[in-house]
Amino acid sequence: MKVLVIGSGGREHALVWKLAQSPHITQMWCAPGNAGIAGERLTQNQSAVECINIGAEQLPQLVAFAQEKKIAFTVVGPDKPLALGIVDLFEKNSLRIWGANQKAAQFESSKAFSQDFMERHGIPTARSGTFAEQHAAKKFAATLNGRCAVKADGLALGKGVLMCGNVDEANKAIDEILVSKAFGSAGSKIVIQEFLEGMEISLHALCDGKTAKLFPTAQDHKRALDGDQGLNTGGMGTYSPAPFLTDAELASVGAKILKPWLKGCAADGIVFKGLLYPGVMLTKDGPKVIEFNARFGDPEAQVYLTRLENDLMELLEASVDGALDKIELRWNPMSSVCVVMASGGYPGSYPKGKPISGLAEAGQLTNTKIFHAGTACAGDQIVTNGGRVLGVTAWAKDLSAARNAAYAGVDRITFEGAQYRRDIAAKALS
Ligand code: AMP
Repeated sequence: MKVLVIGSGGREHALVWKLAQSPHITQMWCAPGNAGIAGERLTQNQSAVECINIGAEQLPQLVAFAQEKKIAFTVVGPDKPLALGIVDLFEKNSLRIWGANQKAAQFESSKAFSQDFMERHGIPTARSGTFAEQHAAKKFAATLNGRCAVKADGLALGKGVLMCGNVDEANKAIDEILVSKAFGSAGSKIVIQEFLEGMEISLHALCDGKTAKLFPTAQDHKRALDGDQGLNTGGMGTYSPAPFLTDAELASVGAKILKPWLKGCAADGIVFKGLLYPGVMLTKDGPKVIEFNARFGDPEAQVYLTRLENDLMELLEASVDGALDKIELRWNPMSSVCVVMASGGYPGSYPKGKPISGLAEAGQLTNTKIFHAGTACAGDQIVTNGGRVLGVTAWAKDLSAARNAAYAGVDRITFEGAQYRRDIAAKALS
């Protein structure tokens, strides 16, 4: 089977790496991919994965490519093409594709949509309000004493959430998004949520329109600096499993969220075939959803896919075909840790084109995989080409060993200005 993967980050490298192990796949392309993806080969016939120069948001060109190459199955990694309706467009052209359709992708592309859905269908979430006008927004924020999260409604590269501790900060955040348009049209509406305290975890569930299969827990590290300091990023590292829930507790949390979510989707005519990724705060009053995403987390995909034992191709086909009820997800019992190495300055501005050394040496380590995110080839050299550059991922019998192995990989890699957190998974071990 010929497969096309869309996207260019660490998540897409992890998807390509796992799919490349499937005996069902004979040829694979990635649009646009990165230097690491271009180095992957299919296990069954050693054919190289080919990166093609089409952007993940160039939908007509992607359709034309899939038609020309007779692609049997397309896998979408990032949120933006899903929000633009890539799944609907491919299906209209009789092309098989995995990911949430445009209606379903609203769970991520509109925080106002998600919040309204959660409230109407009894999904536990933060007390909140949605506003298009600053005065009403400020009035509501004042009722929370300014302790809130002010969120741009639309997609804002993971940066559209401003955390506030008092009324002044809340008013400033509201002005920034609604008046100064810091996130452009993504901020034409805002959602204000009460500030929730607790342990934050990532849940993932593979869905086929009727069934949702819950993954084990993972925990992301969104802030740029150690000790959860600094700005919010796309994610600086992750690990799985997160030890804050037993299997029974995870099943109970999953049921509290996924049962009403599935019922709500059915009632609202939403057929969600793809990956639902709720961000959840474990508060003293129980689990509460702070947001939904409609695709794999990045870097969560890196740790999940290094633990998944099933053939990913079979899972994604079952998701499209509505056949997940017949499949059991199998996870290896190892722990997996991913440490993101980023360009100096990220999540602000950063230079590109810095040569990366030590990749071959780090790649030799056992049970370690260097997933590429923002990398490119410059002649024979691999260079930095984005904010998040690499996701150094290692798996081992327990979290402590996996963490040591991931940092052993990081220690072998250098590029000018490299920054990374030194405390990935530390919370779980303390
Ligand atoms: P989001 O993109 O909505 O997940 O928000 C980004 C990050 O901001 C989350 O991962 C949390 O760490 C934090 N956050 C968002 N909403 C809340 C909330 N209501 N209470 C506390 N922290 C939050």
